[in-house]
Amino acid sequence: MAGLPGSARVVIIGGGAVGASCLYHLALAGWRDCVLLEKNELTAGSTWHAAGNVPTFSASWSIMNMQRYSAGLYRTLGDQVGYPMNYNVTGSVRLGHSAERLLEFRRVAGMGRSQGMDLEILGPDEIRARYPFVQTHDLTGALYDPYDGDIDPAQLTQALAKGARDMGAHVERFCPVTQAAWTGTEWVLTTPKGEIRAEYVVNAGGYYAAEVGRMFGRRVPMMVMSHQYMLFDAIPELEAWTREVGHKLPLLRDVDSSYYLRQEKMGFNLGPYENPCRAHWATPDDPMPDDFSFQLFPDDLERLEFQITDAMARVPLLAQANLQKVINGPIPYTPDGNPLIGPMPGVPNAFEACVFTFGICQAGGAGKVLAEWVTEGATEWDMWSCDPRRFTGFEDHDYCVAKGMEVYGHEYAMHFPHHVWPAGRMKKASPVHDRVAALGAQFGPYNGWERALWYAGDGDDTSEDAQRTWARKGPWFRAVQAECAAVRDACGILDLPGFSRFVVTGPGVAEWLALQITGKVPSVGRLGLAYFADDKGRIVTEMSVARLAEDKVLLITAATAQAHDKDWLLRHLAPGLVLEDQTEAWSTQILTGPKARDVLAGVTDADLTRPWLTWQTARIAGADVLLMRVSFAGELGWEIHSRVADTPLVWEAVWAAGQAHGLRPFGMFALNALRIEKGYRAWKGDLSTDYTVLQAGLERFVDWSKPAFRGRAALAAEKQAGVTKRFVTLRIAAGELDPPYMAALWHHGVVVGEVTSAGWGHRVGACLGLGMLRTDLAVPGTVVEVEVFGDRVRAEVMPEGPVWDADNARLRG
Ligand SMILES: Cc1cc2nc3c(=O)[nH]c(=O)nc-3n(C[C@H](O)[C@H](O)[C@H](O)COP(=O)(O)OP(=O)(O)OC[C@H]3O[C@@H](n4cnc5c(N)ncnc54)[C@H](O)[C@@H]3O)c2cc1C
Repeated sequence: MAGLPGSARVVIIGGGAVGASCLYHLALAGWRDCVLLEKNELTAGSTWHAAGNVPTFSASWSIMNMQRYSAGLYRTLGDQVGYPMNYNVTGSVRLGHSAERLLEFRRVAGMGRSQGMDLEILGPDEIRARYPFVQTHDLTGALYDPYDGDIDPAQLTQALAKGARDMGAHVERFCPVTQAAWTGTEWVLTTPKGEIRAEYVVNAGGYYAAEVGRMFGRRVPMMVMSHQYMLFDAIPELEAWTREVGHKLPLLRDVDSSYYLRQEKMGFNLGPYENPCRAHWATPDDPMPDDFSFQLFPDDLERLEFQITDAMARVPLLAQANLQKVINGPIPYTPDGNPLIGPMPGVPNAFEACVFTFGICQAGGAGKVLAEWVTEGATEWDMWSCDPRRFTGFEDHDYCVAKGMEVYGHEYAMHFPHHVWPAGRMKKASPVHDRVAALGAQFGPYNGWERALWYAGDGDDTSEDAQRTWARKGPWFRAVQAECAAVRDACGILDLPGFSRFVVTGPGVAEWLALQITGKVPSVGRLGLAYFADDKGRIVTEMSVARLAEDKVLLITAATAQAHDKDWLLRHLAPGLVLEDQTEAWSTQILTGPKARDVLAGVTDADLTRPWLTWQTARIAGADVLLMRVSFAGELGWEIHSRVADTPLVWEAVWAAGQAHGLRPFGMFALNALRIEKGYRAWKGDLSTDYTVLQAGLERFVDWSKPAFRGRAALAAEKQAGVTKRFVTLRIAAGELDPPYMAALWHHGVVVGEVTSAGWGHRVGACLGLGMLRTDLAVPGTVVEVEVFGDRVRAEVMPEGPVWDADNARLRG
């Protein structure tokens, strides 16, 4: 096809490895009328100079999925498209210097096994068999990944582009998009070669993604780091060894010293993630150029000194070589270091596949995921970790720079379950932040909102260092135990700023909502839990619904779900209905425990005999509040919703009234423990698009009498065919460590499910897990094993329903 086509079904902006993979996967899915526009030559952004490492390792289940897919694709791609490539599967050795690091490896090896990969833990004396030149005296072990390797990024991009072209897609080089306009039905993109109309667009602009986003009115949360690697001359000893054994060394990653060392021809490539590190194009005196194609930053070796010295001590062979060349290129970062793949928030018919820090090893998987988003509106694997809607708009420039630098400087750091990263804090504070801080609150951010995680007492270690453990017990443990006990025996108050809330108003709102959720719409005065399924019956989200009036509903959902759920609601909103996001206007306290009624009676004359799952307006300290009779902690309780300006007075009044009843503050760690005992699922942990509503054991929230709702046909078919796995609660004989997310469940040597959340239940005095188990085993009393950081421990399937207060008597009390 000659010249720029006048229209296409999808236009991809950006021809790096990721854009090319998007084009390839769209064409594979049968969408061949697609065009990729590249402002320079293919690979001109970050791709041409990337080192091309292709690890499968990730501590994230979904990222591992994506990288595993890429590695598999790259093995066969060259043959499939007729474009031979240099792809060396060398394996890798990831060194561990501590017991904690070994636990991380064991966890990831377990995850890999669940994904069908065989990652191996090496003892200190086994390392040299894989890597003869490494010093091992101070190591605790290593992880061997046989699938790791390196690929030529330019060849990879060309191969993907060729494959796409051969299927009918079009690549237009030297064709920058300079403007985008939405006509109401399609996009019109302006380029120097003319206009092109598109049904859908994809921003695959790499480190230019923010500039591309601006054309669509979208502020992309990102920043750019400078990242370097060094190429060293050939080393005769390495050459001799390579010739003798007939293969290259595996890639070495010394993650505790923060670098990788790869054999490059007969020399080495050393790539550090240094700290302190350097952001680029982040200040007015360092503006981003309009075009940086095929350019590099000047070498900056000084800040790599630690890693260079360390690597030479670790592999003394390296010290024999001369430095030949330094590559210092731009690499984009989101605030959490994961890329953006999915719908472009707030923009019609637009998607993102950009801001990749590991865009070579993720390109294959990312193309698959993006193509599914575009062609099916949903992805095979739950991809929340990369969903652009996990950012909600508060992420200003300073925040993006601070977080990007933090992630880069800790690229190989371990992510401990109780650890809170310090950068970019205090973006949004509760109206009673100072009050709860004065009570000892230790905070963590949820969609930028600072919430109390636990309350420290005198002498408790509140240092960041103390959080760096995989163990269940840290300085918080006794405090959390006491907080749970207060909720069980008296009353607790949890300050919960940032609950996402949407009010939907208009004629027919109940009929509309009935089509969106699987269950019943509550009647006026009542509230209920609602599940939103996709067309495949998989769980999109969960919200609390309060029916405020015949034509008005209040939908309350997780803080982190704000942009995601709003986007979902707006996409499906019926004409005539109006959605208002009231998240910023209100704040919430959870007041729960057997004395909650006595505490409330001291501050309001509301009718506190109204049953569970009702709401009422009331007055506390002269302010109008909304009282909702629910408790995620599973005790008698109310959520007190107050306007932000009124919240300090309301909190003061409740706090004062509670003193006579043993009221204590409690935090998110306690709430998590309490909800697991009730079997209450958490969004994007237990509830995700990896599971259907039926698999998640939520059939009681499915109203089959409704003739239509989204997902109904799929769920009915699933019910008929038989549900293959089921939600269970497990009592786990865990030692010092709780099972992490996606810990495998084993039965007679076969993986039969996974744990989606687990923790210590302080009311029942046991480690409990929520998870998914093969249906035939999801029977109370069945004993399986959970893989906890490499060890398999006994787990028993509990009777259906909550472990604590099975008949909800306390909740209804
Ligand atoms: C030194 C270094 C080493 C690295 N090593 C590795 C590694 O070993 N493994 C790994 O996985 N990752 C590595 N990376 C990261 C990797 O390079 C990137 O993640 C990856 O190249 C991103 O690919 P992309 O397609 O998203 O973006 P890019 O390759 O940056 O492509 C974006 C494209 O969009 C084009 N574009 C921008 N604006 C427009 C417009 N308006 N119109 C049309 N086109 C436009 C650009 O010209 C560019 O070609 C490394 C990065 C650096 C800096």
